[in-house]
Amino acid sequence: MEARTAILVRTLRGLAGFWATAAMAAAPPADLLLVGGRVYTFTWDEPASDGAPAANAPRSTVGFRPDAEAVAIRGDRIVFVGSGRDATAYRGPKTRVMDLGGATVLPGLVDSHTHIVGLGEKQSQVDLVGVASEADAVARVAAFAKGVPKGEWILGRGRDEGAWANHYPTKQLLSERVPDHPVVLSGLHGFAVWANRLALERAGLSSATAAPEGGEIVKDASGEPTGLLLNRATSLLTDAVPGPTDEQYKSYVLAGLTRMARDGYVAVHEAGADRRLMKAFQSLDAEGRLPVRVYAMLSVSDADLCREWLRRGPDRDNGRMLTTRSVKAFYDGALGSRGARLLEDYSDRPGHRGVSGTQYGFDQALVADLMKGGFQAAIHAIGDAGNRETLDFIESVLRAQPESRVLRHRIEHAQVVHPDDVPRFARLGVIASMEPPHCVEDKAWAEARLGPVRVKGAYAWRTLHKAGARLAFNSDLTGSDHDIFYGLHAAITRQDKALQPTGGWYPEERMTPEEAVRGYTTWNAYAAAWENESGVLAAGRWADVTVMDIDPLVVGASDPGRLLHGSILATIVGGKVAYAADALRKPRR
Ligand SMILES: [Zn+2]
Repeated sequence: MEARTAILVRTLRGLAGFWATAAMAAAPPADLLLVGGRVYTFTWDEPASDGAPAANAPRSTVGFRPDAEAVAIRGDRIVFVGSGRDATAYRGPKTRVMDLGGATVLPGLVDSHTHIVGLGEKQSQVDLVGVASEADAVARVAAFAKGVPKGEWILGRGRDEGAWANHYPTKQLLSERVPDHPVVLSGLHGFAVWANRLALERAGLSSATAAPEGGEIVKDASGEPTGLLLNRATSLLTDAVPGPTDEQYKSYVLAGLTRMARDGYVAVHEAGADRRLMKAFQSLDAEGRLPVRVYAMLSVSDADLCREWLRRGPDRDNGRMLTTRSVKAFYDGALGSRGARLLEDYSDRPGHRGVSGTQYGFDQALVADLMKGGFQAAIHAIGDAGNRETLDFIESVLRAQPESRVLRHRIEHAQVVHPDDVPRFARLGVIASMEPPHCVEDKAWAEARLGPVRVKGAYAWRTLHKAGARLAFNSDLTGSDHDIFYGLHAAITRQDKALQPTGGWYPEERMTPEEAVRGYTTWNAYAAAWENESGVLAAGRWADVTVMDIDPLVVGASDPGRLLHGSILATIVGGKVAYAADALRKPRR
């Protein structure tokens, strides 16, 4: 039952209470019942393009307030959203009841641009961030090694080299405690690598090995490598580590997706899947092991794979855990490295404008064929020239085949857009798929690249949205932290984690808390053409739900800095509890 229907039922109860109660009591029990929540259904209308909430948004004079308390789930669908009192009708002897104790419930979060293998790979390494001493680091590796078959490589990362400078660790203790696995531990900043004896052996490093120019193999008095390699010598070890086997690769994919479930996400849009990644997704899907939904964009760089899919055609139905009907291509480079294509010279490098299109490897004919074949194109474009040329390209395809517009083509990043091109997004129905974190991470140098005028068209969420463009928000992980609280905070404040700069960086581009949440929920549902299945909490929709300990609509308005301390309490995907914090884990009947 929809929230609005629930309100209607409450009204009816005043008039004909007996009838309404009898009707509710007839409902078959739910499998899972969430009660005691601050539930925001997002079934009310979209805010205006300047962020003003719709007239039917659940608000009082002080701001947003939840529009429901309970969610009932049967199978993979929501069957009821409404008051706690009405929810009791869905409680049966076998219903699992989660008492949320006032936690906030949102439509399931979606990260609409991820690179999941990198995240999983990180999960599959020993995390040495914050380790205080050599002994602690070795203890952590030794504990990790217990779960790894002997002979397999163990990788770790995150110890701060700065803290090593006065007393470098050696292979001694590490080799004693972890003798049977080659171990390679990278520093936080990647300029020092520490290894055990077996790793040095496998890499063929000995007293006879000379360091490359710009690097150092630290050696002891007898000339033996101590296990520490610096700067350009680090590659002697890191290059010796074999790439993951298919099974390991698949485990990275699973680890990355599991981490996303842990962090509140019910789905990811994977921005560029080649054959190997598609195989891993398909295999996990066939085994029923995908913890979150995957909306896969095929990587156009894997042209053979794309041509196969072109013959087969896109997935048309929804409701699966894996949906493939989008393709990812690159039109230009990145702004930081000055690879993004600009209309005028880089402000900090005269004579240079970056590269784009065919020069950058963009396969125009293949992308056009895929678009005509029913695939959504998601094209990476960063510079103002890169964006203009991408819009030109999409426009040319739409001219040849106007019905392709319904596929909702996207520009990934849309990072710097010339004012003349801003209205074209709405005109062509192109989604601007953007990363709130990028703005606060790039602010230190973006203006140097672009100068004071062009920078106003950078990360210009509000400008694009006001001009009618649809937005989709995401992290581009592992490039940025996918933490939703960081993302919401960046979108609402345009401040970094240290709350800088005061008042926000070009604050006129900020989003409201409601828009920030929509950017990761309803708007991302639209970007995958899932808006009839998800994006809001209502009867009949996918049972995709996120529970958190902070109310972003209230706190985002009153004290947004506090959002950075929020945490995820539960993630429900298709009715299954993909993650629940300890406090919620105990089933109550
Ligand atoms: Zn990306």
